[in-house]
Amino acid sequence: MRDATPEQTPETVHLADYAPVPVTVTHLDVSFQLDPKATRVSSRLTCKRQGPGEMVLNGEGLKTLSVTLDGVPLDADRHTLGDRTLTLHGAPDEFLLETVVEIAPADNKALSGLYMSNGMYCTQCEAEGFRRITWMLDRPDVMATYDVAIDSDLPVLLSNGNERAAGVWHDPWPKPTYLFALVAGDLVATSDSFTTMEGKDVALNVWVRPGDEDRTAYALDALKRSMAWDEEVYGRAYDLSVFNIVAVDDFNMGAMENKGLNVFNSRYVLASPETATDADYANIERIVAHEYFHNWTGNRITCRDWFQLCLKEGLTVFRDEQFSQDQRGYAVQRIGDVMNLRARQFREDAGPLAHPVRPESFVEINNFYTATVYEKGAEVIGMLRTLIGAEAWDQGIALYFERHDGEACTIEDWLAVFEEAAERDLTQFKLWYSQAGTPRVRVTEHFSDGLYRIDLAQSVPPTPGQPDKQPMVIPLAFGLLDREGNESRPTEVRELTTAGDSLTFDLAEKPVLSILRGFSAPVILEFDRPDADRLTLLAHDTDAFCRWEAGRVLAKDRLMRAISEDAEFDAGWLDAVATLAQDDNAEPAFRALALALPSEDDLAQSLHEAGIVPDPERIHLTRRAAQMAVAERLANALPDLRAANATPGAYSPAAEDAGKRALSAGLLKLQTMRDGGAAARRVYDTADNMTDRMAAFACLLDVGDPDVAAQFEADWSHDRLVMDKWFMAQVAHATPVDAVGVAERLTKRADFDPSNPNRFRAVIGGLTAGNPAGFHRADGSGYAFVTDWLLRLDPSNPQTAARMSTAFDSWRRYDADRQALVREQLDRMAAADPSRDLAEMVARMRAA
Ligand SMILES: [Zn+2]
Repeated sequence: MRDATPEQTPETVHLADYAPVPVTVTHLDVSFQLDPKATRVSSRLTCKRQGPGEMVLNGEGLKTLSVTLDGVPLDADRHTLGDRTLTLHGAPDEFLLETVVEIAPADNKALSGLYMSNGMYCTQCEAEGFRRITWMLDRPDVMATYDVAIDSDLPVLLSNGNERAAGVWHDPWPKPTYLFALVAGDLVATSDSFTTMEGKDVALNVWVRPGDEDRTAYALDALKRSMAWDEEVYGRAYDLSVFNIVAVDDFNMGAMENKGLNVFNSRYVLASPETATDADYANIERIVAHEYFHNWTGNRITCRDWFQLCLKEGLTVFRDEQFSQDQRGYAVQRIGDVMNLRARQFREDAGPLAHPVRPESFVEINNFYTATVYEKGAEVIGMLRTLIGAEAWDQGIALYFERHDGEACTIEDWLAVFEEAAERDLTQFKLWYSQAGTPRVRVTEHFSDGLYRIDLAQSVPPTPGQPDKQPMVIPLAFGLLDREGNESRPTEVRELTTAGDSLTFDLAEKPVLSILRGFSAPVILEFDRPDADRLTLLAHDTDAFCRWEAGRVLAKDRLMRAISEDAEFDAGWLDAVATLAQDDNAEPAFRALALALPSEDDLAQSLHEAGIVPDPERIHLTRRAAQMAVAERLANALPDLRAANATPGAYSPAAEDAGKRALSAGLLKLQTMRDGGAAARRVYDTADNMTDRMAAFACLLDVGDPDVAAQFEADWSHDRLVMDKWFMAQVAHATPVDAVGVAERLTKRADFDPSNPNRFRAVIGGLTAGNPAGFHRADGSGYAFVTDWLLRLDPSNPQTAARMSTAFDSWRRYDADRQALVREQLDRMAAADPSRDLAEMVARMRAA
């Protein structure tokens, strides 16, 4: 790897260049006359000078009809109207700036700013969408109160804050532009109420299109649980008299925390047992909580600039993970979060798109809504809590809320409260925000004459723009087991702060080390140790994460050796897997996780790191062979095991039943390998919920069932969200040789609408993420197909095109032929005059 930085363009924004605005806006009065092709936006900005300099407002694609200052039209010498800026020359200390602009929401396919989705008006302003609505200082450190008036014949007219009259809204809480929202449409609400700990009655509404009302109950329930949890755990109460959630079909992101008016991708609101899987329910619960929690971590206390994005996102992900652990059980939730982190963030950290949790420069901020900012950002906060202890954490965060309420803050502000609360210098810890790359911790053990020693060595690999790294503060939680598997030393935390360190213990016999308990730091552990130790941990460790991890390392080791050396799957490993699968003392959800083999992408990355060029086809086949070996080992036990984990009675999305269904689904996959799909067919035909139906559908696609896709379509063609699953599953479960053809065929259907991000992701993501062996076909057809579609989407929706382009970020792992094929496609994208979003991503990936 060489030190590579993206091509610098004049538009690159640097953290170091931050400067406060010379003139700020304290209040906005904005009125909308809605029209699909010509919406008129009249705004009055209350402006106040806070330093010398010209006021430069942001705008994009606006037809400016008038600009007045204190009621007087502005002369040409007092302002300059540019393409994307409106500059005021010699503005007074306090004044009212009024503008009238016209925009066309129906033509807005970028889904940023004010746009239309199925006849409904909605907005998405994070990060820089407000400038597509009207002239304004479109940056998070300008916080203003808002009065909004919406003029339209549509029955439901929503904005932030409290409603004063039909379509007239007042938001008393100062907020940045990115939290502005407007929704207008023919919508119906499911309603409830919540009384806060301060005694305030809050009306809760989930707004959907008529006909979808019967799928809103779970989101509403999750909202109430979130509100109660934030009061109980963080002492944070809600602060308006209404909280609205709106489901929108065409949405680039998952959901958006606009003050008092959260806008959601409909797939994260709508759920019924017949249409949503357990994973959908868990996502809805978590995302509703995440957006609600932002009311304090993001909205009341926001980011000074977009480089501080992790201040709101890392913290809010940390909080939603805590919430999900409380709702669903710590161990299984933690393992799931670590799997997600490794799959998305470790991959990002290992490639050309690696960047620090707090980036130092960007061309397009939308490209930095990444797993590093979100998930690694959350891990950094988890480490902070581990290092300073729960008590200092509680004091520090209370101080943060007290000191910074109403402010736009930085990571420095954030760390300062914990330095005070814990009376600890966090200078070295702060490296977690500035150094990219996943640290590696090498562990070696020594035992002789009653002395047990653990040597620890850390290193952080070079990443783009950061060739040399300093040692980090790494909290390592560990415990010791004796040879029989009894815990001889409970969990304690030691800090690794230097390149190398040792721990020593006086012990009669060599123990079994259980280290990185609870995944106490986002690092890669390099630890060659005997299988016997791993089998002891897998059977006995009290720490669920390390227990699961022992099984994962054993499985990965078998798979890697089978891929690179043709090694057989040994009986010792298969026995251990079979024992755990049948261990009634372990939670079904845990057993389901333990039964799942490492993903194809995980194996490709691990092989690459071991100096072996990964062959996607071979990885795919070997992984299937391993599944077959496990299936053979469990063989006749499979039907009984499935029966023992049945969930009779009415469907419940709660964790216990969901865990049983997850285990059943894993077992059904194994059974399918033996019976050619007979059991899966019975499940498919009799399932009364989408979780079981999708599990069986996937199995039947795997065995090439000729009828099941048409049957599914006949049942569900009326339902957009369910059909997204149908599109995705067919691509993900096609054989690698067929995958591109299947995806291509699906894109020719009338109901493949690429302007709907969910549908686009279902098919294109179904290939890139769901079928890696198909995407990486040696003939390059997968690369060309995905590039074709990225280039078709990019002119209308650059955000989603740029995000999906990350499929290519692992290209340096592969052989020279595949690398040449990917480079050809990256070159093709670069030459096609792409959007700023896609151009930046392609430049970073080409530089690798
Ligand atoms: Zn968020």
